[in-house]
Amino acid sequence: MIFTHDTEHALAVVVDLINTGAAASGAEELGGLPGLRAFVERHDFSDVGELTEADLARVLQLRERFHAVFRAGDVPAAVARINEIVGEVRATPHLTDHDDYDWHVHFFAPGAPVGEHLAADCGMALAYVVAAGELDRLRTCEAPDCARVLVDLSRNRCRRYCDSRTCGNRMHVAAYRARQRAL
Ligand SMILES: [Zn+2]
Ligand SMILES: [Zn+2]
Repeated sequence: MIFTHDTEHALAVVVDLINTGAAASGAEELGGLPGLRAFVERHDFSDVGELTEADLARVLQLRERFHAVFRAGDVPAAVARINEIVGEVRATPHLTDHDDYDWHVHFFAPGAPVGEHLAADCGMALAYVVAAGELDRLRTCEAPDCARVLVDLSRNRCRRYCDSRTCGNRMHVAAYRARQRAL
């Protein structure tokens, strides 16, 4: 494991959030509250209550800001963006074991809106990545015409493609065909 379990979990949430706006079909998964509800449920966010249009607007704004961290290109730019995100959070760190998860740290206050969850926990996860000198693990898929992002958690930093069902496969097929042609 490259980072702590909590950090890797939060990074998976960030990746999924950014990729809701970069589906292969071009569809916007967070086009309305049902999409936001589905996102919240698939990540077991604790105690977010009723979702509103204000929550959706905040999450979409955060999605842009998280994406900017992946595209930052260098550490100072990433640091500036991450500090903006976490700087707006009123952090209330505490341990919790909700939903049958083992003890883990939440940085947001109990009952905080979903945007606050994301800004605090995902913002801190990105902060740990930079602090560990691992910013280059935050990547954009290298398949042409794919805009999805990934976190490379492989030991030898060899991941190039997102985990959509197509990218890795179609690139392998393309490489195979290229080798065949070269023979
Ligand atoms: Zn939790
Ligand atoms: Zn891809």
